[in-house]
Amino acid sequence: SSPTLLMRVVASAYSVAEKAARIVRNIMATGDLGIVEKSGANDLQTKADRLVQMSICASLARKFPKVTIIGEEELPPHDVAEELIEDGHYEEILKKPCPPQYTGIKEEELVIWVDPLDGTKEYTEGLLDHVTVLIGIAYGGKAIAGVINQPYYNYEVLNLLNCLRALRDLKVTIWGVLGMGAFGFELTEAPAGKHIIVTTRSHSSALVNDCITALNPDTVIRVGGAGNKVIQLIEGKASAYVYASPGCKKWDTCAPEAILHAVGGKITDIHGNSFQYNKEVKHMNSAGVLATLRNYDYYASRIPNTVKQALVP
Ligand code: AMP
Ligand code: MG
Ligand code: MG
Repeated sequence: SSPTLLMRVVASAYSVAEKAARIVRNIMATGDLGIVEKSGANDLQTKADRLVQMSICASLARKFPKVTIIGEEELPPHDVAEELIEDGHYEEILKKPCPPQYTGIKEEELVIWVDPLDGTKEYTEGLLDHVTVLIGIAYGGKAIAGVINQPYYNYEVLNLLNCLRALRDLKVTIWGVLGMGAFGFELTEAPAGKHIIVTTRSHSSALVNDCITALNPDTVIRVGGAGNKVIQLIEGKASAYVYASPGCKKWDTCAPEAILHAVGGKITDIHGNSFQYNKEVKHMNSAGVLATLRNYDYYASRIPNTVKQALVP
């Protein structure tokens, strides 16, 4: 039987994310990032954010014209250069069976949340391994599938192995579907009995830090990007992603949520409310983020009431 719409969207998003990663690397290589401040100095947009958003949204819209696509960047109306369009798909994904509950989905029922470059602040500072490209797919208000590309996966090692450039394409794209699982990485448990918290690097506040202190962590890892932080969870480098602040948006959490949930993890706001991804929803995750692969209840039960009261959903 022919592949379902959902599997075709995921297979296309995979190739579109790989094209996006090439654009991210190419812009960095030109040395001209074209940085623009959005709401302030900690909220930046580069030429890579702009071109990648055009590339992802135009490529997916051309193949799936009735799907709603919501991207992070506000761009003036424009024609998208043909060289930015990706029309390929990853054949391996089409070979897998679609979970039965998703076989009947129609284009009009899907919402795709696009973060063309997550971790922009870190990208501008040369912390390249914090950067991800996020394509999240929602149905019925739920994140059901996602693709995360790491344009600089293992880039320090690979720079040394320049002659083996083909390795660059190894394991850089993670994808997953609820009810099917997630692929392109090795699911690893965090060290048992340790509380390793991963949080923001560039958007800290007193509340963010008070919340972490209350969780009695053994270690706190401060890195950029929502995508990057969820990867730390599924690769066993951190036990909880805790961010007690507004600032993170639906395009930051949709793809990571689908992948985390596909492998049995959990992501909510600081109150324990799940995120909604229908097209009318407000973009801001006003009440922060709490995510784990395991032991969600342990962390949720220790979020102080003072922190909860400070964050209105
Ligand atoms: P971070 O953990 O600080 O890298 O944030 C994860 C994602 O949420 C990134 O896309 C950030 O740009 C976004 N974000 C989080 N907090 C803020 C904020 N205070 N202002 C703007 N963007 C934010
Ligand atoms: Mg982001
Ligand atoms: Mg972004």
